[in-house]
Amino acid sequence: MPTSSPTAEIVVVGGGIAALELVLALREAAGDRVHITLVAAQPDFVLQPALVAAVPSRHGAHRRPLRAIADDLGVTLVQAAVASVDPVGRRVVLRRGDPLPYDSLVLAHGAQTVPAFEGVIALGGTVESQELRTLREEIAGGRVRSVAFVAPSRAGWLVPLYDAALLATKSGHTVRVSLITREVRPLEAFGAEASATVAAALAAAGIDFIAGQTARVVEGDVRVAGGSISADRIVALPLVRGLRIAGIPAGGEFGLIPVDRFGRVKGLEDVYAAGDATDYPVKHGSVAGQQADAVAAAIAAPAGSEPFTPVLRATLLAGTAAPIPVGDGAGNDEPAQVPGRYLAPYLRGADETVAA
Ligand SMILES: Cc1cc2nc3c(=O)[nH]c(=O)nc-3n(C[C@H](O)[C@H](O)[C@H](O)COP(=O)(O)OP(=O)(O)OC[C@H]3O[C@@H](n4cnc5c(N)ncnc54)[C@H](O)[C@@H]3O)c2cc1C
Repeated sequence: MPTSSPTAEIVVVGGGIAALELVLALREAAGDRVHITLVAAQPDFVLQPALVAAVPSRHGAHRRPLRAIADDLGVTLVQAAVASVDPVGRRVVLRRGDPLPYDSLVLAHGAQTVPAFEGVIALGGTVESQELRTLREEIAGGRVRSVAFVAPSRAGWLVPLYDAALLATKSGHTVRVSLITREVRPLEAFGAEASATVAAALAAAGIDFIAGQTARVVEGDVRVAGGSISADRIVALPLVRGLRIAGIPAGGEFGLIPVDRFGRVKGLEDVYAAGDATDYPVKHGSVAGQQADAVAAAIAAPAGSEPFTPVLRATLLAGTAAPIPVGDGAGNDEPAQVPGRYLAPYLRGADETVAA
């Protein structure tokens, strides 16, 4: 942690899982040695998974005013979007014009989604759960008899696509479901054991798993090498792209922020990034939380901190009755709908306070 002032000024950009986990982890690791300013474009923290899964969560939908969280954690909240960073002058510049100085800066401002195909139901940042609900109703009413679920790339939010495919088969009416992906095995990033678990779930649900394909959608059909798959409806993941902030490097074709295993932004001093904003290919709340924990440790105690070593773990909800934990250590714990070592208990505590 830089020592230019007795209390280091940490600026955190974002208001999602990565930003809040970072704040909580940093409070734990550095206590009052840091002053934290959270710069968030939106007024509320929204836990996307609860919206996305379109399945009632044990904790309900999570939407909390960031103002209340910031007051609770002793954090200064600046409700504004960051436009640029001046790494030499060590300040961020808000879109409305004013600068904010920092000793350490953490970028946790997520990613943007770009539709991969036209004329499909897109699972994405601005979650289309209404369209998915309508789709399930159409299947239940027998009006839709076949659905193709398509992952256009290996990077991104793959877990919800599998979830949506499994949910489609539970709509109470026979439907032909195919899942087309560039992966070689189902959810391959989560490891061989997870793949086997998911493959068994897909097979049990009668889903046709079509692996290793770079799919295109042409005139309402999914084109793959050597053929085409026709379906009444197509559901596709969007492409993941970086949200550009001037002064911050953007890597490769996806424009995401290149980081090392401590979350340090390559080429910049005392600038870190965590969550969907980074170039780590798996986009998931639990990954965002782990990256934030590694960054908090690196800021609080750079000499002894542990690098980010991803433990990939998710829960396929697959209908409320049968959640399927997949990945490292799956089955040792309850399904983790709320990610984050510090964020999950914090939100649970707030729920209990509200309920009391
Ligand atoms: C369809 C779908 C389903 C998903 N399902 C699950 C699931 O079941 N379980 C799970 O764990 N994960 C799931 N995820 C992934 C999970 O939602 C993301 O990985 C996670 O939200 C990433 O958190 P983040 O904090 O990095 O980014 P975000 O949650 O995107 O937060 C970014 C924040 O930064 C703010 N911001 C953006 N630009 C600026 C700026 N310039 N200045 C200031 N603030 C800014 C935004 O307003 C936002 O508050 C799903 C994602 C999708 C799209």
